[in-house]
Amino acid sequence: MSVKKVVLLKGDGIGPEIVNAACGVMKAVSKKHNIDIEFEEALIGGIAVDEAGEPLPQKTIDSCKAADAVLLGAVGGYKWDSLPSNLRPERGLLGIRKALGLFANLRPAKIFAPLKSASPIKDEIIGDSLDILIVRELTGGIYFGDKGQREVNGAPAAFDTECYSVPEIERIARMAFEFAMKRSKRLCSVDKENVLESSKLWRSVVKRVAEEYPEVELTHMYVDNAAMQLVRNPKQFDVIVTSNMFGDILSDEASQIAGSIGMLASASLNGDARGLYEPIHGSAPDIAGKDIANPLATILSAAMMLRFSLDEPAAADDIEKAVADVLNVARTPDIAEDGIKTVGCTEMGRLVENIILG
Ligand code: NAD
Repeated sequence: MSVKKVVLLKGDGIGPEIVNAACGVMKAVSKKHNIDIEFEEALIGGIAVDEAGEPLPQKTIDSCKAADAVLLGAVGGYKWDSLPSNLRPERGLLGIRKALGLFANLRPAKIFAPLKSASPIKDEIIGDSLDILIVRELTGGIYFGDKGQREVNGAPAAFDTECYSVPEIERIARMAFEFAMKRSKRLCSVDKENVLESSKLWRSVVKRVAEEYPEVELTHMYVDNAAMQLVRNPKQFDVIVTSNMFGDILSDEASQIAGSIGMLASASLNGDARGLYEPIHGSAPDIAGKDIANPLATILSAAMMLRFSLDEPAAADDIEKAVADVLNVARTPDIAEDGIKTVGCTEMGRLVENIILG
């Protein structure tokens, strides 16, 4: 049995609490499934500024590069808000994504049946459950294209450029098709092909890659329609693949459909299936240190890690099932419900561990 190395980047605010809870769950599931995981801690964010003078020390980059996967809590807080931009905790996040070459961001928008009432979407639209996976290109497109300011007709103006190369589209499309193959074999590619040249190329490359995956049913949708369909009929989607900016917007929209921010996991992957896993929420400085944060998004991020980077799908299934079960007996304050016991972060982690270990 080979040892798998996982780096824990606890970060700031509620980061240490939620990562500790997730780490306890990973240890429990590793015991049950006989998985050998070695954990190592490294600094990122505000705490790294305090202890090492910069938000992303080289030592952290080296540890993460040598690991099979990284679990991140969150970074940022009031204390560091007035630092110059090169020392801001968020710089650590952008830096580690770049250093690890993470070009794909995966966000599942999943509703657990006991939390259906937290979704703003009507029950009859959601049905028993909802489970969409958005695959967003993360390192190209308009956020990274040429930008600047110039004069247009004598008036000050500014511009940004959306540019995608064929290899950039191929690799994200291939990753999305691979995920579709493991799920319901349905993939929707979202673009704006009727207006944008970059989308025309996007669509033609996705169609070409589709020839490698004849079992996958591929559809195409304009982004404006996709935004509408996500709230009108979200169940039509399984896997969605899209560009950086469209994915940024659609994944936030989809996360709201799923309800509570404390439940939503994410993964960022490179081509070697190495990845960085993190909850989508921030460091919640308003509740940090009170042991009331919801650790389930981080625990679900750990499940994604077991599935995508550590090749332990049965362990991932166990965690996801335990999370679904725990919601019937205990809730953190953010998802509290009458008649169900309210617990803190540490206790929630322990309950998930107990369910896993039986
Ligand atoms: P936030 O996500 O930290 O908090 C928004 C609200 O949701 C707060 O009321 C918070 O208490 C609540 N919340 C968040 N996570 C929760 C959880 N697990 N359980 C219960 N309640 C939870 O967003 P914000 O307040 O805009 O940002 C706070 C700090 O986090 C800022 O410094 C910001 O830059 C940083 N941030 C970091 C990341 C990251 O590390 N990936 C992402 C977003 C924001």
